[in-house]
Amino acid sequence: MISNNEDTLTRKAYAKINLALDVIRRREDGYHEVRMIMQTVDLYDVLTFIKSRSPGITVVTDKEGLPGDESNLVYKAAKLIMEKYPLRQGVRIELKKRIPMAAGMAGGSTDAAAVFHGMNELFQLGMTESEMCTMGVKIGADVPYCIQGGTALSEGIGEVLTQLDDAPFCHVLLAKPDIDVSTKYVYENLRADRLARHPDIDGMRTAIEEGDLHKMAGYMENVLETVTIKEYPVIEEIKGFMKRKGALNALMSGSGPTVFGIFEKEEEARKAYEELKEAKLAGQVYVAGWAGGKADSEAGGRD
Ligand code: ATP
Repeated sequence: MISNNEDTLTRKAYAKINLALDVIRRREDGYHEVRMIMQTVDLYDVLTFIKSRSPGITVVTDKEGLPGDESNLVYKAAKLIMEKYPLRQGVRIELKKRIPMAAGMAGGSTDAAAVFHGMNELFQLGMTESEMCTMGVKIGADVPYCIQGGTALSEGIGEVLTQLDDAPFCHVLLAKPDIDVSTKYVYENLRADRLARHPDIDGMRTAIEEGDLHKMAGYMENVLETVTIKEYPVIEEIKGFMKRKGALNALMSGSGPTVFGIFEKEEEARKAYEELKEAKLAGQVYVAGWAGGKADSEAGGRD
């Protein structure tokens, strides 16, 4: 939450990256069983919730090409909540979209997660985080993680979550090339049974618990790169660029195409940011740090 009064409330919805992503198998029902290390970064959308007298849901976005209709995950989350808690009042939700779309950063899922938190608070619904996650997974496998945030091990189809110690602090350079990647296409074209290697998720978990940034960076791996990079070699180019500019490691996030590089020093990340923008390999480039996490929640909320 960043501001609040009785009738309005504003909340940030943070993007995520996958520090590591493994796909174990494709299930009979078509879903994929995954093991991933997730991390929220301080690149965010902003949602403002306003109570309205008449019942119903209105969603307004500032992004061309992203309507506020029933297809918007913000609308879907609000609808699920309204079905469970019939309210006398309605809600208007204004979405300022900042997270690149179809980027592998869970932009839609994190907006949905913010709706659960935001409406819970505005209408004092008393939902627990676990109740929100149970509803959230109906919208998308990453929604429960986005509700929780921070550093987490995500298993099952993404909904089985174990909160981890905060990943060691660093500076993250994010670059989204001007291509849209369909998550569905990437998963459909992944041959999980034929992968030559799998990321060492437990190794990364230990590195995080030890607070060892270099070791953690060494475990960064994403099996979905096998599909997306074949289709879009620019991803490999950006990874190479970041590593040459001093990143401890660089990886594609989720199903792509966003690439992130991990830097120990802020000035290195900033320099690489300028050079990457000049190289014109990616239209959207950002420097970010971690967001959310245990330290924040223990201090009484992450906002
Ligand atoms: P993931 O990392 O979970 O695969 P993504 O970053 O690849 O997500 P999103 O930005 O979440 O992809 O959105 C993918 C599609 O979902 C968009 O192209 C858009 O049509 C639709 N969508 C619906 N609601 C939203 C929303 N609130 N924000 C972004 N996209 C949304």
